[in-house]
Amino acid sequence: MQEFDVLVVGKGNAALCSALSAHEHGVKVAMLEAASEDEHGGNSRFAGGVMRFAYEKVDDLKRITEVTDEEVATSDFGTNTTDEYYDDLYRLTSYRSDPDLSEILITQSQDIMAWLRTKGVKFLLNFGRQSGLVNGKRKFFGRMPIEAHGGGAGLVDYLDKAVKAKGIEIFYDTRAVSLIYDGEKVSGVRAQMKGKMTEIRAKSVVLACGGFEANPEMRTRYLGPGWELVKVRGSRFNQGDGLKMALDIGAAPYGNWSGSHAVGWDRNAPEFGDVSVGDQFQKHSYIFGVLINADGKRFVDEGWDFHSFTYAKYGGEVLKQPAQFAWQVFDSKVTKLLRSEYRIKMMTKVSANTLEELATKLEGVNPQGFLKTVREYNASIKKDVQFDHTIKDGKCTVGIEPQKSNWAQPLDAPPYDAYQTTCGITFTFGGLRIIKETGQVMNVHLKPIPGLYTAGEMVGGLFFFNYPSGTGLVSGAIFGRIAGAGAAQAAKTA
Ligand SMILES: Cc1cc2nc3c(=O)[nH]c(=O)nc-3n(C[C@H](O)[C@H](O)[C@H](O)COP(=O)(O)OP(=O)(O)OC[C@H]3O[C@@H](n4cnc5c(N)ncnc54)[C@H](O)[C@@H]3O)c2cc1C
Repeated sequence: MQEFDVLVVGKGNAALCSALSAHEHGVKVAMLEAASEDEHGGNSRFAGGVMRFAYEKVDDLKRITEVTDEEVATSDFGTNTTDEYYDDLYRLTSYRSDPDLSEILITQSQDIMAWLRTKGVKFLLNFGRQSGLVNGKRKFFGRMPIEAHGGGAGLVDYLDKAVKAKGIEIFYDTRAVSLIYDGEKVSGVRAQMKGKMTEIRAKSVVLACGGFEANPEMRTRYLGPGWELVKVRGSRFNQGDGLKMALDIGAAPYGNWSGSHAVGWDRNAPEFGDVSVGDQFQKHSYIFGVLINADGKRFVDEGWDFHSFTYAKYGGEVLKQPAQFAWQVFDSKVTKLLRSEYRIKMMTKVSANTLEELATKLEGVNPQGFLKTVREYNASIKKDVQFDHTIKDGKCTVGIEPQKSNWAQPLDAPPYDAYQTTCGITFTFGGLRIIKETGQVMNVHLKPIPGLYTAGEMVGGLFFFNYPSGTGLVSGAIFGRIAGAGAAQAAKTA
């Protein structure tokens, strides 16, 4: 049996930030990771690494990364003011995001980036995915000009180095299975360490061990029928253990338990994420084409907004289609605009020189239905509006259902390329209810549970139905830092 002041369960971004934050308060910290050292890092390690924080001016960006004078002179970074951030989060979550939690998320988002930098994390301007050249100037769009160097894997590596430099002990191959709780206070966890049951005692426990996205039984139970059929974009270790063990002692569930973040993902991707491919099985450039189901029909407004504001919801829409797939179809006018994930080796792609030929190659699709859809789509596009991929250009369809609101161009320039996708789940939205200042978990009667804290995907109440890209890592770091500090303060006075 071992004893610590603060025990952090998990080793993704939220857990690493919790551990570093607790350590700042001068207490003895340890971490438990269900995965081996080779597979450590949770979903954070699979993440693309884009991070959404509030900024208004170049000096805000300079707090986080180096920006040269030449870059300043030749770039339009746009803004993501706190008002814009609130607007995006609230319109996407149908105004359900918890006001206290979202205020913390948004108002602390820039400071947390600067804090991460002090922990050794390096950031870069997000040239690859969120910018384009307009009249010789690089215009950043989607309000997200910065990403972690090396993506999510880089972020985890930097934080891992920081944790090791502080001498924080890490137990790998150690899966927490239940909380040690005497009805009054949590004082550690029971865990399976390299196949053997053990108890690890601590004055405070921080659960930062992800949602239930990798558990088909829980997905079906909470998200609904069909969700057992999806692919998992990231870690296979997020089995909902933390949520289960907290609910078992009476913790309050909070947030959108029937909701999740899920995207269009290669139809033939493996069951779980592959770190060597990272997030590249995703296919996020659908805004420039059309999505086609087995009946040959469109089923969403592909151009409702930038992909950052629709992608997390459209995976669920693909899942609702017959046989749970959709083909993304493009013509050669937009090939150069397709993101890097359209150029990897492992993908389900067909090409053709005519639409008729393409129709025969779209496996599982009614060819006549597809050709009819494309004819009607091509005829419905407003001709007097200029296409511009760096703004919501208003180049829309008229008179067809569903409408395409922006970036609608006729499919008329061969060769045509099509990519088959299914639903890939990223993470689940349901979580626990916390006290916002400390990250302490509340019980179902809304009283704090002594000794129990949580962070990351396990915090409920922020995301409902949809999600603005780049928010998961930022919220994980913010609520990780808060929970680490809360747990450490409590341990000191215990
Ligand atoms: C493919 C992909 C791309 C993404 N891209 C982005 C992006 O660009 N920007 C962004 O902001 N977000 C992105 N996300 C979302 C982001 O990764 C998550 O929101 C974030 O990583 C969650 O962090 P976390 O620390 O809560 O969980 P995780 O990073 O998943 O960490 C959970 C940890 O708990 C461990 N664990 C689980 N159960 C147990 C147990 N019983 N005992 C001990 N340990 C346990 C896991 O092994 C893991 O170490 C992406 C996610 C995926 C999958």
